[in-house]
This record gives sequence, structure tokens and C-alpha cells, in this order.
Amino acid sequence: MASTAERIRGYMAAHKQEMIEFLGDLVSIPSTTYHEEQAVLWLKNKLTAYGYDKVSIDPAGNCLAAIGRGKTTVLCDAHIDTVEPGTEEAWGFNPLEMKIFNGALSGRGVVDDKGSLAALVFAGRALRDLGLENEVTFLLSASVAEEDVEGSCVRAMMEHAGTLPDAVIVAEPSNMMVVRGHKGRALIKIEVLGKAAHASAAHHGENALIKSLPVIQAIDSWRDFREDPFLGKGSIEVTKAVCDTPSLNTIPGKVTVFADRRISCGESKQQLLDELAPLTGSTGAAASIDIEEITTYTGHRIVQENYFPSWVMDEDHPLIASALEARRDITGKDSHAVRWDFCTNATYLCGIAGIPSVGFGPGDPALCHGSAEVLAIDDLVCASAVFAQAALIFGRKMG
Ligand SMILES: [Zn+2]
Repeated sequence: MASTAERIRGYMAAHKQEMIEFLGDLVSIPSTTYHEEQAVLWLKNKLTAYGYDKVSIDPAGNCLAAIGRGKTTVLCDAHIDTVEPGTEEAWGFNPLEMKIFNGALSGRGVVDDKGSLAALVFAGRALRDLGLENEVTFLLSASVAEEDVEGSCVRAMMEHAGTLPDAVIVAEPSNMMVVRGHKGRALIKIEVLGKAAHASAAHHGENALIKSLPVIQAIDSWRDFREDPFLGKGSIEVTKAVCDTPSLNTIPGKVTVFADRRISCGESKQQLLDELAPLTGSTGAAASIDIEEITTYTGHRIVQENYFPSWVMDEDHPLIASALEARRDITGKDSHAVRWDFCTNATYLCGIAGIPSVGFGPGDPALCHGSAEVLAIDDLVCASAVFAQAALIFGRKMG
């Protein structure tokens, strides 16, 4: 009798054409961040037609559905939003009309992250059609606004659901490698105060722009970050300075400096602010985490700190072990788990909510957001099988 992995592989091979068509249709519906409605509605209909249970759209606009009734629940998340499609000139064709050439697919979102979403949709179908639905509960989420505020909309999703899954598979491009962590990020805001005055009588005031220069310089030369053996070192980069000045003949009374801080393991929120104190010291400037306000396409408002922590799972955690085993069963190749060098929804799901998480997906992360997103058809089909097998193995392990 064929092993489960062989049956899943066979199922995906038989559904290859359908999966490619599904992805082509999904790519053709523009779904830039905060404008995902049409793609979400299309997906909801598809999932209903495919026999998914509990197909719904939550208040933030994420699409959710379930397959199976196993004791263990695995949430499988891929984001449905993309960056702007880009021009026909840059791509050489309309990036919303997916092209097939040399065994690969190209178009906006095939790598980030519609290919992963398509692979998840067919993974759930395989579990049901192969009669494996008693072994795990496969929750599928197509989340919104990930490109702008990773973590925020899955947080809204979890808060609305009221219960947390036992584990999460974050489906994002990983070159078919199992991922067990990534750095976090925070947007730091530093307010340098001076005193506005007419430029012709500047001695009556204090120029906040000039006062901010040593602060910017000190941040730029700051290198003393904690080194983590898996994630490496954190970093900080000044990305913007905003002058509060009513006219161009007034010296500014306030300058707000923004800095992107990449967060490694074991660096707390307070630590990020404390380490800046000696850098801003004599200027009396105050550092804080920026507060961001967003509104999703449904009108759902989210106000939150611009703080997305890092997360790391142990290589021998049952979830990571399940994913590595599934990858080996499907591809025949052994490997270690690696890290992502970008931030995903796992920043909330694992970094804040503490749900065991693993990352995996078809496609090269280096191609994200560019005008040459290319995804090998074999990887798409293979990733779909790995998703199904990983959820299944984890469900079996947890009993
Ligand atoms: Zn992505």
C-alpha cells in the first residue's frame, strides 16, 4: 500500500493543472495592501466550492476556512495582499496576466505570496479528498495587509476567533527550506526639541535641526548589538527626519528622527529605548516606539505600536521536526531549519502570542516585490504536498 506521502504527492501531481489555473486567476485579481476585497471574495467562493467548512471573512477582512476535525489544530497562513503590480514595461508583460514559460510561472504575487496561498488551498483539499480529515484540523487563513503591518491583521484574526491554534505554518517563500525564526523590527521615533525663531533673529531660538545632527550621527555609528548565534546581530538605520517648521524663514523648533531597528533574540522593547539614552543624552531628546494607525479594506481600524518582535523555535521542537520530516518525505532531501531575513506574520503569531510556528514556502525570497517574480511549477506542487504532509505528521505526533 502506498505511504501517505506517496498518496499526497500523487494527489498534487493529478491537480497540478488545476493549481496553476487557480494561481493564474488569483494573480489576475489585483490585491494591493488595503485593497484586497475582490481577491478575498473570489477566494471565499472558491473555498466554499471546494468543500471547505466554516468559510468566513472576519472584521479585519481576513478569509478563514477549515478542513478536518482532528484534535490538533494547525493554522496555515499566507497573505493575500501584494505590493503594487508594477509596469508592463518593467515586466515585459502585464504582471496581472500570469505567464508560463520553461516550467515556471511569472506575475505579481506568484512568489509573494499567492503561490504559497494556492499551495495551502490544495493542501487542505488533499487532506480531505484522501480521507485524512480525522487526523488534523487544517485551518486556512488568507490574511490581509501583511506587506504594511505584518502581524497586525492576524492578531485581529486571533482576537476575533477567541482561541489560539496548537501550531502555525507561515507560508511565505523560503526556497523550499524549513524556517524556524526571523528577526523582528521596530520603528523608533526620536523627538529633538529646540525653539523656533525667525531666521533673521535665530539667536532668540534653538535650531532643532542642528541639534538633531549629533543624534543622527551617534545612531549611525552605533554598532554595539547583542549577537545571537542563529539570528545574528540587530541593527539600526535612520530612515527619515521630519522638521516642524511653519515657514522656510523660521528655524525649526522640533525635529522627529525615525529609525528602523532590526531586533535579534533576547532584546526587549525597553532595551531598545534604553540603549538610545546615551546617544541622545545631552540633547534631552526622547525616544519612543512609533504608534501606527491603519484601516483595512473593511473599515476595521487598528492602532498599535510599530513593534514586531523576533521569534525562534528549537530545531527539535515537534513542529519543526514534523516540517523537516515532511520535507524529506516529499522531496527526498534532508536539511536543517534555516532563518528568514525578513519579517512575517509569525512576529505576532509566535513572537507575541507564543504559538509554536514554522515557516515554509515555494519561491526565492530575493524575488519578492521585484518585477521578475518567477516560481517553478515543480516547487509550487511540491510545497503543497509538504504543507499537507507537515500538518498531518504534526497532528499524528500530538495524538
Ligand atoms: Zn510575503
